[in-house]
Amino acid sequence: MSKIAIMGAMPEEVAPILQKLGKYKTTKYADNEYYEATYNGVEVVVAYSKIGKVFSTLTAATMIEHFGCNKLLFSGVAGGINPKLKIGDLIVATKLSQHDLDITAFGHPMGFVPGGSVFVEADKELIKLSKEVAKELNKTVIEGVIATGDQFVHDSAVKDNIVKHFNADALEMEGASVAVVCSALNIPFFILRAISDTADTDASFSFDEFMESSAVISAEFIMKMTDKIIAA
Ligand code: SAH
Repeated sequence: MSKIAIMGAMPEEVAPILQKLGKYKTTKYADNEYYEATYNGVEVVVAYSKIGKVFSTLTAATMIEHFGCNKLLFSGVAGGINPKLKIGDLIVATKLSQHDLDITAFGHPMGFVPGGSVFVEADKELIKLSKEVAKELNKTVIEGVIATGDQFVHDSAVKDNIVKHFNADALEMEGASVAVVCSALNIPFFILRAISDTADTDASFSFDEFMESSAVISAEFIMKMTDKIIAA
């Protein structure tokens, strides 16, 4: 039986999901709130972690270890790198990397530490399901690499550097940390982002303007994914 974790980083990313669930129970745990509901007969736990790798790690681990979730879906916004990605477009992560993890001084590649790997791959079955959802919704969804780091990128040079090391299509601040947690705990995960900005000089203005509408686009797709998982 599935128990599905649905997480975002910011309140705006989970608000449309909570709205869709309607009735839920709020539990305070580990300095955060978790929203538990039954959706079409299946238990779901929703939370926003707060921004960044550390908070998202805590939330993902809590949803799995404390609340017993056995699948995790992430919904949110990201800065686009791939020129095909326009504001509001969706990207599904095939693999994720921590772009600010740097012990290159010891001859290691960017994003690598001993015992870890540069990339963590997302669950292929869930990606397959997302293709069906995209088809049903008549939406183009790009699959690609997401780079994660503890900074809001608003500089083309920083962006170019991330492309150089990771060939990333989009960047954000939580995906790779959630991926590390899920992969270590053997929990299938799916990371979806709608583009809010293109991570260059005007990124913060674009983010402020489009974050909420892009968050809704992502959340709607995630709820359709949830429907698919439940129906499968
Ligand atoms: N406006 C917020 C801060 C947003 S930080 C405040 O003032 O509180 C950006 C958030 O959106 C992160 O959760 C990150 O995952 C995502 N994101 C969107 N565009 C991004 C970019 N260009 N660089 C990094 N993260 C980005």
